[in-house]
Amino acid sequence: MFLPPPIGAERKGFFYLMNNRVFNFSAGPSMLPLEVLQRAGAEITNYNGSGMSVMEMSHRSKVFMKIFDDTQEKFRKLLGVPEGYKVLFLQGGGTMQFGMVPLNLIGATGKADYAVTGHFAKLAKKEADKYGKTFDASPMDAFTSIPAQDKLKMSSDASYFYYCSNNTIEGTQWQYVPEAKAPVVCDMSSDILSRPIDVSKFGLIYAGAQKNLAPAGLTIVIIREDLAGKELPVTPAIMSYKNMVDKDSMYNTPPCWCIYMLGLMCDWLEQQGGASGIEALNVKKANLLYEALEDTKLFTLSAEKAARSFMNVTFRTPSDELDDKFVKASVEQGFTNLKGHRSVGGMRASIYNAMPMEGVEALCDFIRKFDKEN
Ligand SMILES: *Cc1c(COP(=O)(O)O)cnc(C)c1O
Repeated sequence: MFLPPPIGAERKGFFYLMNNRVFNFSAGPSMLPLEVLQRAGAEITNYNGSGMSVMEMSHRSKVFMKIFDDTQEKFRKLLGVPEGYKVLFLQGGGTMQFGMVPLNLIGATGKADYAVTGHFAKLAKKEADKYGKTFDASPMDAFTSIPAQDKLKMSSDASYFYYCSNNTIEGTQWQYVPEAKAPVVCDMSSDILSRPIDVSKFGLIYAGAQKNLAPAGLTIVIIREDLAGKELPVTPAIMSYKNMVDKDSMYNTPPCWCIYMLGLMCDWLEQQGGASGIEALNVKKANLLYEALEDTKLFTLSAEKAARSFMNVTFRTPSDELDDKFVKASVEQGFTNLKGHRSVGGMRASIYNAMPMEGVEALCDFIRKFDKEN
């Protein structure tokens, strides 16, 4: 059971005080719902009468195995993972998957297609070049758009087609699942469980959990079972999907605490109406923010309209000086982490699952005020 929600958020100017917490627009690790943190806090020294913290438990104990199994079940239900797919709870972050994907999958033909629509897909392709030959399925000059299906260039003999569904840094997002002859591999690190998806369209999905779902340290992999077992001989045991599938993610110690936190987050998402419920909320939040920005004279949006992300909203003023001024003023108002990624500049508001509507409303007010005064 969740603890009761915090007693009335108090508003001071543009600064909402919710148990002295700020509205944190960090791109990751990012906000978790207050109710989830409070429940974890209440259980932190003695989980469910076990006399110990989840952090102190053997990963093979009965108590932890139940947490693990329940979390698997809740996650599969929320995302609608069909039979024939395994859900793995690993470590190493999205970045380890940049290497793990080609190590395990590129051996089929030695080739793979990558839709490079942003910084992280570019890094993933570069890593895969160590183990096979990769092709850019969507060459582009600037990462401000998303290619249409008929613009994607696919090789006839690729082992897989790779893309990143939400470009966290650039603030662009795929609003369709690309179709390919080869299995589709997707990096969903920054939009997993922010909307419903049809898992059966994918060969493999992975996501670092620290943006939308849990603390840093957990990486979720959803793999079609027939794709495990094709790894290159040099693949380290800890990076073999087959090994992790066979050992049920417990070849070595899994990130126990993060798995427990994911379970709490799944309960919370269920309360929001599941994947479609949270999608409705996320779309509402993003539209509110985009409309507020469009209404100003001062701000321009970085992404093309059709490619806009519902998770990371990127925008800027006409000058770096004014961008700095905006960021400084926002901190004074109790907003944090609105500065854009160092590689692109400007501003970025990350509004993942846990960012409440009030946080977005307060930011919209602040944007309008800043626009008038500058
Ligand atoms: C954050 C992020 C990564 C990198 O994740 P790490 O867990 O830091 O390795 C990869 N891909 C995407 C889309 C991301 O947003």
